[in-house]
Amino acid sequence: MSLQQSLAIVLQVKDHGDSDKIVTLYTLEHGKIVLIAKGAKRSKKRFVNKLELFSLLVIHFVPSRHSSLMRLDQADLQDPFPRLRENYELYIAASLLCELVLHWTREHDSDEVLFRLLVWALEGLSTARGGAKRTIIFFHVKMLDILGYRPDLTGCLDCRVLGAPGVLYRFSPLRNGLVCSRCELQATANSQPLSIQTIQLLRRVQDMEQGKLERLHFSLAATREAIALLKRYDNHLLQREVQSWGFLG
Ligand SMILES: [Zn+2]
Repeated sequence: MSLQQSLAIVLQVKDHGDSDKIVTLYTLEHGKIVLIAKGAKRSKKRFVNKLELFSLLVIHFVPSRHSSLMRLDQADLQDPFPRLRENYELYIAASLLCELVLHWTREHDSDEVLFRLLVWALEGLSTARGGAKRTIIFFHVKMLDILGYRPDLTGCLDCRVLGAPGVLYRFSPLRNGLVCSRCELQATANSQPLSIQTIQLLRRVQDMEQGKLERLHFSLAATREAIALLKRYDNHLLQREVQSWGFLG
């Protein structure tokens, strides 16, 4: 089959035998794909400094009909995001974005909007456009939207009210939405208390365009609650731990 070309972000790199590497990429045209880079460990020249986590590449590869593991022929570096490698917090944030895409997407299921969101978020981290945690929250909320897992934050799932005086709200990953303390007297397992401020912030993010992130104020408390919610939601829906959350300070 003929050589194909695509823009790609490196999501994961693993050594394979003595001389090869297995690279998982999120590509513009083909979604997530796993490729073998023959000789990448031995021949430094061909792939030097290219197969690094979250680098933006133009890849040339040979699609395979018979095995799911395709061969990476060539990789040209478009943007290595050097700043993200010099700062621990940014490195963890960028790693988290890539790990989320790694676990939330299926192979060969392309989504141009998600690809461009990932590149936009990495560029944002790299240029200190919006703050690492704000970028993570924004990216995650938008990613859930794109993939069809938008949490319902419009009101309590049972009584549909939001913001009734003296009423507390919890987010239920199981029901993918809010429940209030009037409808559910006892908190169900795995649900998380959410303040009205955090609910409103997340709703604004859901409806906001990418370019306007800087206009949004994230209080420390709302940032903490939003991150706890997204982490819990990941664990519930992916049924696995997203490891990078654990390194986020
Ligand atoms: Zn209710």
